[in-house]
Formats: sequence, C-alpha cells, structure tokens
Amino acid sequence: MSVPVPRRAVLRSAVLLGAAAGVTALGQLAGDRGARALGTRVDQPTIANCATWGARPPSSAVTVVQNRPNKIIIHHTAFPNSTDYSLAHAYQNSRDIQNLHMDTNGWLDSGQHFTNSRAGYLTEGRHGSLYGLLHGQTMVQGAHCVGQNSQAIGIENEGIYLNVQPPQALWDSLVLFCAFTCQQYAIPATEIYGHKDFNSTQCPGLLHGRLPELRSAVAARLG
Ligand SMILES: [Zn+2]
Repeated sequence: MSVPVPRRAVLRSAVLLGAAAGVTALGQLAGDRGARALGTRVDQPTIANCATWGARPPSSAVTVVQNRPNKIIIHHTAFPNSTDYSLAHAYQNSRDIQNLHMDTNGWLDSGQHFTNSRAGYLTEGRHGSLYGLLHGQTMVQGAHCVGQNSQAIGIENEGIYLNVQPPQALWDSLVLFCAFTCQQYAIPATEIYGHKDFNSTQCPGLLHGRLPELRSAVAARLG
C-alpha cells in the first residue's frame, strides 16, 4: 500500500550528505530549507487500503474520472462515538460503512474515498481511491455528496459531532490527510468544504464551524 516517494529519498540523501560533510548547524538548516523548496512538504500518512481492512469487492466496476478533484469535502459518519480506539475497530468501522452503503443504500461500494477513525487511523474507502491519490492525476467517482462526486474527494470522519467535538487524534489525522491530499492533487487549502455546503444535511456537525481552522492548519502544513 506504500508507494516510494522519490523526493523523500532525495531529501534524506541531501541531509545525510550534509552531515557527512561536517557542515555547521546553520548550513544544515539552509540545506533543509533548500530541499523543502524542491517540493517535499507533506509525507504520505499511513492509509490502510481496502484489502488491509477486509473490504468486499465492489458490486460493479468503479468509475475512474480522468481529472483531478478540485476540492475536499468533510463528513461525519453519524455512527455512535465509540471509545474503542484500536486499529481493529477502525477496520471494523470501515467494514460497517461499506456494508451500510452497499446493502442499505444499494451503492456499488463505499461512498466516500477515505475514512478517518476517532483514533486517527486512515483507511481507503471506495476501491481505487488510494491509487488515484498516490498518483495525483485521476480519481474514482464517489457517492458522498450529490453534485460533487466526480470532482470532490470525500472523507468520512467516524462519529457524530452535532453536540461534541471530535477527539484530538481525529483532528490531527484530518489535518495531515487534507494536507497530503491537497499536495497530491494541487488542491488549494481554501478548497476544503463541509457536506452541508452542498446538500441539505447537518453533516459534518461542529466540524463545519472548524473549517476555517482546518484550512489554516492545512495551509501551514503545505508551507
Ligand atoms: Zn456527509
């Protein structure tokens, strides 16, 4: 599930080279800054792919859209706020969502592209979403927001946040995920929205009021 990022290797080599040459701390700092200017800003977070969390195959082929998404849309699952913060629970949550979307909603696969657990574990949603993200050129058509499914990456945050804020771990993971996604698809940090911006829904609850904070945090990570 992990794809090598050549630029990381370049950065690491440059830092090692600087250390081996015995350059001063100031010199190393300048070297780091120079390396970052080449474009390495946000490392790939760990995202468990569909096979890892035990997804069912889609009931029919997913549609690959031959363009980059232009925004990210934030959701909450409206599932109960579990206090099980294990990786196993995050995988179970992904299976529960997929079962709901396929068996109750009648969709071909999970509707969202990615899922973020209350403990901050990231998983792939609809099959093919991770491939698209890592290559940064295409996306799979989702089923998470009417009118936006071929142009917006949808992320489901586990839990319901109408009256309570999400755990810090979920928030931190969301910031990192959004920053990486913006980087991969060249989406401006300003183009992060909530589901209720487009459809009549309460989703994503209190997370919607924190979108300015999210955009700022993502912009800071992108540098
Ligand atoms: Zn939603």
